[in-house]
Amino acid sequence: MSVARTVLLKISDNQWLRANGTKMPFVRRAVSKFMPGESFDDMLVAAKATATEGIGAVFTRLGENVKDRAEADAVARHYLEVIDRIRAAGISCEPSIKLTQLGLDIDRELAFGHLRALAARAQAAGSYLWIDMEQSSYVDVTLDLTRRLKHEFPAVGVCLQAYLFRTRQDLEDVASRGIGVRLVKGAYNEPASVAFPKKSDVDANYLALAQAMLSAGPRAAGSRAVFGTHDLDLIGAIRNHAQSIGLKPPAYEFHMLYGIQKAAQLRLTQDGAAVRVLIAYGEYWFPWYMRRLAERPANVWFVAKSLFG
Ligand SMILES: Cc1cc2nc3c(=O)[nH]c(=O)nc-3n(C[C@H](O)[C@H](O)[C@H](O)COP(=O)(O)OP(=O)(O)OC[C@H]3O[C@@H](n4cnc5c(N)ncnc54)[C@H](O)[C@@H]3O)c2cc1C
Repeated sequence: MSVARTVLLKISDNQWLRANGTKMPFVRRAVSKFMPGESFDDMLVAAKATATEGIGAVFTRLGENVKDRAEADAVARHYLEVIDRIRAAGISCEPSIKLTQLGLDIDRELAFGHLRALAARAQAAGSYLWIDMEQSSYVDVTLDLTRRLKHEFPAVGVCLQAYLFRTRQDLEDVASRGIGVRLVKGAYNEPASVAFPKKSDVDANYLALAQAMLSAGPRAAGSRAVFGTHDLDLIGAIRNHAQSIGLKPPAYEFHMLYGIQKAAQLRLTQDGAAVRVLIAYGEYWFPWYMRRLAERPANVWFVAKSLFG
């Protein structure tokens, strides 16, 4: 892992910066590359615009590690309300949720209660529900709650991270139950005891896992196959593999983040791929934004440039 990535991920965990980083005007200017705005309405405008380009959306309200029960309740109420607003807007825009934002650090049953309510509301709105994956210490509980949810609600999926050694087994288990999988490389600072330290190993594991997701077992179980990546070489390899086994979109999808590889999103869509863009909003964006910088430390130049207006 590069030094710059390690430093940026450490900054993302700094409590003082988490509270104060969003107030710095030059950081606020720079973050606009990755999010259309802080409000749900900003997100909705962006989702409507991408819909006109043939690109669906996934949305998330930024926030994590909520320590206050009232705040977790408010987050759940917010999601319930906006799922209805999206239904009224008539666009395809699926929620993606962090369990620690629903109160997982306070009480796992509190988080599960909120999660069930959101899954019921999403089901009523005809929408899929995605569950984000956070640090490796949360993987077991996230998968446990996802499995429980799946007993009641068919249209749920979870994010799995290719940098973790354990993901091969998790994928087999989750996909065989028909739970959707959004495969990503992984955005957190993980020790070498649990995650591949070398990027080339993460990339190789990603492709192997992608091929497993497209194999007969997960498809027969009805597991939705989503590749959350901007890596154009990997996307090319996945598309070639899918073609070689006779699979066509929408049997598999690519999801990217708002503001990253926009030209590729359009090119892929025009070329017949199923593409969605994940659009984030909310006031609590500092740690999330630091993870975006860490993915491409060259992005720090955008921050530096915005420091000078
Ligand atoms: C839809 C979606 C959902 C995600 N959900 C989660 C989650 O729940 N849990 C989790 O741990 N991680 C999540 N991630 C983040 C993911 O783990 C990676 O950190 C991120 O996608 C970067 O990896 P990459 O696959 O794009 O490959 P990389 O090898 O990092 O990047 C490939 C190329 O994409 C471009 N690129 C990538 N990132 C950036 C960036 N920030 N700015 C500018 N260019 C960039 C660059 O050109 C780079 O060379 C999600 C990502 C996506 C797309």
